[in-house]
Amino acid sequence: MRQQRLLNPTLRDVPGDAEAVSHQLMLRAGLIRQLSSGIYSYLPTGLKALQHIQTIVREEMDRAGAQEMLMPALHPAELWKASGRWDVYGPELMRLQDRGGREFALGATHEEVITTLVKDEIHSYKKLPLTLYQIQTKYRDERRPRFGLLRGREFLMKDAYSFDRSASGLDVSYQAMYDAYVNIFTRCGLQFRAVEADSGAIGGTDTHEFMALADVGEDTIVHCPSCQYAANLEKAAGLITNKGTSSIDVPHAQPTKVHTPGVTSIKQLSQFLSIESQHIIKSVAVQADGTPVIVLLRGDLEINEIKLKHVLGVDEITMLTESEITALGSVAGFIGPIGLASVRVIADNSIQGLAGAVVGANEADYHLQHVDVQRDLGTLTYADIRNVGQGESCIHCGHELAFAKGIEVGHVFKLGTKYSEGLGASYTDENGLSEPMIMGCYGIGVSRVLAAVIEQHHDERGIIWPKTLAPYSIHLLTVQVKDETQMALSEEIYHALTRAGYSVLWDDREERPGVKFNDADLLGFPLRLTIGKKANERMVECKERRSDSAYELNVEQLLTHCQT
Ligand code: ATP
Ligand code: MG
Ligand code: MG
Ligand code: MG
Repeated sequence: MRQQRLLNPTLRDVPGDAEAVSHQLMLRAGLIRQLSSGIYSYLPTGLKALQHIQTIVREEMDRAGAQEMLMPALHPAELWKASGRWDVYGPELMRLQDRGGREFALGATHEEVITTLVKDEIHSYKKLPLTLYQIQTKYRDERRPRFGLLRGREFLMKDAYSFDRSASGLDVSYQAMYDAYVNIFTRCGLQFRAVEADSGAIGGTDTHEFMALADVGEDTIVHCPSCQYAANLEKAAGLITNKGTSSIDVPHAQPTKVHTPGVTSIKQLSQFLSIESQHIIKSVAVQADGTPVIVLLRGDLEINEIKLKHVLGVDEITMLTESEITALGSVAGFIGPIGLASVRVIADNSIQGLAGAVVGANEADYHLQHVDVQRDLGTLTYADIRNVGQGESCIHCGHELAFAKGIEVGHVFKLGTKYSEGLGASYTDENGLSEPMIMGCYGIGVSRVLAAVIEQHHDERGIIWPKTLAPYSIHLLTVQVKDETQMALSEEIYHALTRAGYSVLWDDREERPGVKFNDADLLGFPLRLTIGKKANERMVECKERRSDSAYELNVEQLLTHCQT
């Protein structure tokens, strides 16, 4: 490709409203442009990188036995009503009407659509297991779209769904996706960790998030430098015991009387909540006997008290505002298992903007009197972590835990029968009995991966692409395009390399050399070849972007070098 003709508008200055480095660099390097908040166009160079990620995703999904398909982005509301999510997904779901007033949603995720399709098409055990995937645009009306592609309102996701006959079958399907994710993120050049996540309101068994390590990440990872243990903060905090805490009073909530005729058991509550998605309810803590409940909602959701009451089936809810939660424990990251008069809060200054609701059960008076605060996450050890009900073992190696910031680039989840039962996707087994299919769902934020890669691979001059994702592998730069010798040699090299299968961007623009070199660093392709004064000797200056190592080769050596 000749750069003269390429739509690649680079910017010298850092755009004022872009906070994250990846956002800044993608704008400056001319990879993306914003259309509206959280909505972006991919320009030709950006699209190439995005397509490389998609190719890797497809190869690994196919290798894992998943089949690609493509579902609509426009979903009739009836589907979402049938699963119960129309009412509870909240304002993140984009809704619209057709000319006849029929309601639709723009797909935020595709459990409803895929389960309905599979329900109609698969009836026998002979057709299972089955894993289907798509790469498709998703819509979520995020409360705070930010950091460019990291949190968009329209973004590209790979979502896969598995259908099995048994829990052990689901284990196999889940592991295949897990392994594929490890391959995908490794091939994308990401430094990442798979962490145990909290299945929370979904009520599934296993769930892991794949976190790309980066300071800009909105998630906190708790991991052990010595053994394999890694979990997200919510999951890890859920296992913390009373040890080493201090108390603060919560004047706001003394006492809080709650009347909740609609909820009589944990099961019933979790049924209500399970129609909620994990995107909304961050964590739910209940007493062993199922009475008091604290529901923590993500701060990026608009909390609609009326809707929450409806979902929980309660008359009264005490809403804790952001500042009250802040008062609870500097900034609360998680409220874990509670006693009648105390709530455990793991404080983490990085998690902001949570809001919560306190409800009780069956006319119980609920006194929220003080809060135990564990402030110093940095010195937490495994000894502080106990099994509070799920049989965690392997995690007591005793080493001090470390904390890191992560970007959630992927999520694998054992759904069980939540959607297949709700939407009626069943199969007939060998004995003629009808059974619900057992499902898993698996997402990768394809466009978020692109941004995460840039978060991890850049320097002060620009992007440093991993070879697997670079829009072009070679940047050929002609210093003086008016110099016939330089142009002739550049053209010769351009054709030879292109014929040899390299993707080459040839900077044949009439620009000052400084501008060209700066742009080359900003764009960050792995190898830069400069054709300058020594063109008459057929000498080329080679420079590797990542190592900065520079060397000269004559054209013949260069071509041999590139072919090996
Ligand atoms: P987050 O916690 O960041 O809001 P999520 O848990 O809501 O993400 P999932 O429903 O698990 O997201 O979706 C699967 C994947 O889609 C996520 O792991 C993430 O990589 C990606 N993703 C989710 N929301 C966005 C977004 N707003 N912009 C870009 N990618 C996203
Ligand atoms: Mg998440
Ligand atoms: Mg989300
Ligand atoms: Mg997720």
